[in-house]
Amino acid sequence: MHEFDLIQWIRQQQSPDAHVLLPAADDLAIVRFDPKDLILIGVDQVLDGVHFDLQSHSPLDIGRKVMNRNLSDCAAMACLPASAVVAWALPRKIDPETVKQIYTGIKAAGDAFACPIVGGDTASWDQRLVISVTILGRSAGITPVRRSGARVGDAIYVTGPLGGSILSRHLTFTPRIAEARELVSQYPISAMIDLSDGLSRDLAHICTESGVGAVLDADLIPIHPDVRQLPGDALSHALDDGEDYELCFTGPAGINRAIRVGTTIKEPGLWIEKAGERRIVKPGGFQHQLQN
Ligand SMILES: [Mg+2]
Repeated sequence: MHEFDLIQWIRQQQSPDAHVLLPAADDLAIVRFDPKDLILIGVDQVLDGVHFDLQSHSPLDIGRKVMNRNLSDCAAMACLPASAVVAWALPRKIDPETVKQIYTGIKAAGDAFACPIVGGDTASWDQRLVISVTILGRSAGITPVRRSGARVGDAIYVTGPLGGSILSRHLTFTPRIAEARELVSQYPISAMIDLSDGLSRDLAHICTESGVGAVLDADLIPIHPDVRQLPGDALSHALDDGEDYELCFTGPAGINRAIRVGTTIKEPGLWIEKAGERRIVKPGGFQHQLQN
């Protein structure tokens, strides 16, 4: 299949959208937003062999995951996804049907949140598959929530059970956009992040950006049942496993629709308390290592 055939096929997949004045067809797409909206922008790339495995994961699942990671970043700031573009580095020998399936997964994930794919770029090379999604979000009446707003004495919450996502949920999660928008419209949420790298690492980002510390209550941390199928300490999995894609946020006490796991404190660092004993937690979530 020639690259232009693939691009032609991709163009045919686009559906009309009120925000999209000109979809992928020209040098740039044209989108229109409400002038009151703030526009948010982010990019995320996934690599075969690092974020997914083309040999063992289904192309549809890979596509969904690529898109949902970006949508989860929209959830983290409580904005609505508005449109996205996708850049591909294709292995020369990849089956065009595989690419179409991945695209179908990307589009399905976007469609679920009214986020059209309005363009992109393809190139081929002798290396493994790389897919990069750039997403635009819009504030749509809600001030974006940052990582830096937590104050000493805030309650810390997560939106669901944690750990063991590697068994399947890293491919099948639902971005918490609706939950984020509801929470932020009802409560003064002070800081928020999506759990891509693990609670210990991502909560540490909130702490660093906000200039606070945090103490977690070991008995309150919700451990996903999947963790039972993995060797090792269950609590460590809940703290350190990446790709749960739940939200972690800070705000007032008494928010019943999320699970309270701790409190922010003045003393810097991340701590965990069990049976009245407090110990420091080293951020242990997933971290990409650069190799020489
Ligand atoms: Mg994120």
